[in-house]
Amino acid sequence: MPIYEYTCTACDHEFDKLRRISQMDEEAPCPICEAESERQLSVFSAFTSNDSGVMSAVAGGGGGCAGCGPNGCGCAG
Ligand SMILES: [Zn+2]
Repeated sequence: MPIYEYTCTACDHEFDKLRRISQMDEEAPCPICEAESERQLSVFSAFTSNDSGVMSAVAGGGGGCAGCGPNGCGCAG
C-alpha cells in the first residue's frame, strides 16, 4: 500500500497515512485537531532536474589578443 502525505489546513501538522489506492481520495482528518487536511503531491514529482547552467564560450578567439578586429590582428602582424 502506498503512503500518502497530508498537511492539516488548520494547524499545518504534517502526517502520513498508509492507504489503499481506492481510498486515496477519502478525507484524512488531522490526528491532532481533526480538521480536514490536504494531500500532498507525490514525492516522485517533487524532484525535477533543471539544467540551466549553459556555459557561454569566451568571446573573441582567434589571435588571442585584445586587438583583433576587421583590420587584422594586433598581435600577429
Ligand atoms: Zn490539525
